Amino acid sequence: MFHGEIHQNVRQYINGRWETSATTGVSTNPSDTSEVVAEYARADRRQTDAAIRAASDAFPHWSHSTPQRRADVLDRIGAELLARKDELGLLLAREEGKVLPEAVAEVARAGQVFKFFAGEAFRGGAGAGGGESLASARAGVQVDVTREPLGVVGLIAPWNAPFAVPAWKIAPALAHGNSVVFKPAERVPACGWALAEIISRAALPAGVFNLVMGSGREVGQALVDSPHVDALSFTGSAAVGERVLRGASARRARVQLEMGGKNALVVLADADLERAVDCAVQGAYFSAGQRCTASSRLIVEAAVHDAFVARLRERLKALRVGHALERGVEIGPVADAERLAGHLAWVEIARAEGAEHVWGGEALERATAGHYMSPALFLAEPGHRIAREEIFGPLACVLRATDYEHALALCNDTPFGLCAGICTNSLKHAMHFRRHAEVGMTMVNLPTAGVDFHVPFGGRKGSGYGPREQGRHAAEFYTQVKTGYMLA
Ligand code: NAD
Repeated sequence: MFHGEIHQNVRQYINGRWETSATTGVSTNPSDTSEVVAEYARADRRQTDAAIRAASDAFPHWSHSTPQRRADVLDRIGAELLARKDELGLLLAREEGKVLPEAVAEVARAGQVFKFFAGEAFRGGAGAGGGESLASARAGVQVDVTREPLGVVGLIAPWNAPFAVPAWKIAPALAHGNSVVFKPAERVPACGWALAEIISRAALPAGVFNLVMGSGREVGQALVDSPHVDALSFTGSAAVGERVLRGASARRARVQLEMGGKNALVVLADADLERAVDCAVQGAYFSAGQRCTASSRLIVEAAVHDAFVARLRERLKALRVGHALERGVEIGPVADAERLAGHLAWVEIARAEGAEHVWGGEALERATAGHYMSPALFLAEPGHRIAREEIFGPLACVLRATDYEHALALCNDTPFGLCAGICTNSLKHAMHFRRHAEVGMTMVNLPTAGVDFHVPFGGRKGSGYGPREQGRHAAEFYTQVKTGYMLA
């Protein structure tokens, strides 16, 4: 089987220089654990502090740079990501385990995000216009409202989308005139490094962008604790998000959290059943279910419940699970051995709780030693743990609903609120659902996973905290408002 290059230059990028660290780690390919993808430097608190200092020193200059300058930098990064999407997609598929077409699409998405925020440098206009000018309540006085950058932002990313999530944090941070310390997840250092390497050649002043790789406990926590980090954007699990929130709020740093989900896809009796099954397969199982927007609860109206489950079971039987680089494979491995063991434990929990097993949930052997699992489906009750807790793997459950109102109540009966979908041909129910689903994003006749890059992304309840990411709304987090009064 294909063994690619071992990336041995995966180092920190601090104050415009590449640095080694006292300790190193390795990342391996989850499709083939005999393949080392990268040997990488692991930063400590001292290096993290140095990166924060560099970002702090670089901020005054960068925050007053012209929108043209920022746009040029971001456009250049976006163009390179798009031009190299196949090569970088291969790296992503090797290190994270997404199937190659999804990995290539993710890199392209990261490129589009940088291109979009190249435009936002002008449209958002932090520090250089883009505000509003109003008549004052007082005669002869003029008022304007402008947006200014925040300072140093600490960006903490998860492993499951190692190009897209960092892109949608780094690009708006830079577009709006902030300096950045970026910490990727330890599972995917080569992806974080590859992105940083492109950024390092985009003519940014030294210190404006810094990369520190290392553990969450040390590097991540140092970002959370540092009084010189003005804002923190975190994407990851709810448990770590809570920690980040507590630490950041205690010192009054601005904080934005994007966390887990237990997203529902509602299927009504009037839905196009083939489309509904398609949405369920894509939403619940593609990317091995390792997406915060995965639909792990399939809430199906009683009249079509059995037919839906039967068709979904047939589709799951036919899904090809295997090496992420193998042509025709639809689902790659899960991220690592620990997660595979965790998912298999969930299968046992489901059985022990009395959920009815429909399909899958077994460890699979393939030609290479990887973390493979067959897509699992259970029929559950609303109180079952598999219907309530985020699993973040290829495991979904079906809940039976008596009618639309019951389906909506089940959909909202969760501590999470990232996204929710509905499959129906009823305009009335679709419109009602869009208004009453307690989530940040709704999808009608579409999979819950799969979003655009120019509109807000994020959730409510336990899924998110603070302003939304992406699109124009990103300015709400990455800038602060100033009101100016002047005697005209
Ligand atoms: P995680 O919470 O374990 O780690 C996320 C990041 O936080 C990593 O970089 C990690 O090193 C860092 N970290 C760990 N401890 C820290 C600490 N004490 N202080 C600061 N940083 C620390 O999450 P993960 O396993 O990498 O990612 C999976 C989770 O991410 C899932 O729950 C998923 O739903 C969520 N996710 C959410 C979104 C979204 O936008 N809502 C997108 C992708 C993933």
